[in-house]
Amino acid sequence: MSECRPPLVAAAIWQAVMDRASRSREPVPGSVFDREPAAQCECTGQCGKHTGARCPHTHGEYRKHGGPVRLVAAPADLVIEGTAAMRLPVEQLLAWCPSCHTAAGKVARRQAAAAAVDVLMSAETLF
Ligand SMILES: [Zn+2]
Ligand SMILES: [Zn+2]
Repeated sequence: MSECRPPLVAAAIWQAVMDRASRSREPVPGSVFDREPAAQCECTGQCGKHTGARCPHTHGEYRKHGGPVRLVAAPADLVIEGTAAMRLPVEQLLAWCPSCHTAAGKVARRQAAAAAVDVLMSAETLF
């Protein structure tokens, strides 16, 4: 099943993040068939789409378009990318569904860019 190869982080780390994301999952009312809860997206509004609520998407969930949802394990702080992200411990990673991951990444980069401008501005006033 090479298509299930987890992106970004090592398989063991990915699995650990997904295990936590399924244990922490809020029970879905009426879902008695859910014997083995799937990992649930751990985004709690960082993407800006569902502020204050946890994203309902779960790993393997069926979508009308694009096949099943595949959660990724990525840094809680999405400004961290590449090899630095791969070295993060499980506690600093979140399970993200693709839509939250993309949206939250944009938000994080925008905030980081804004912060960088602030630093630049204050540096300019200093000198
Ligand atoms: Zn999500
Ligand atoms: Zn989200």
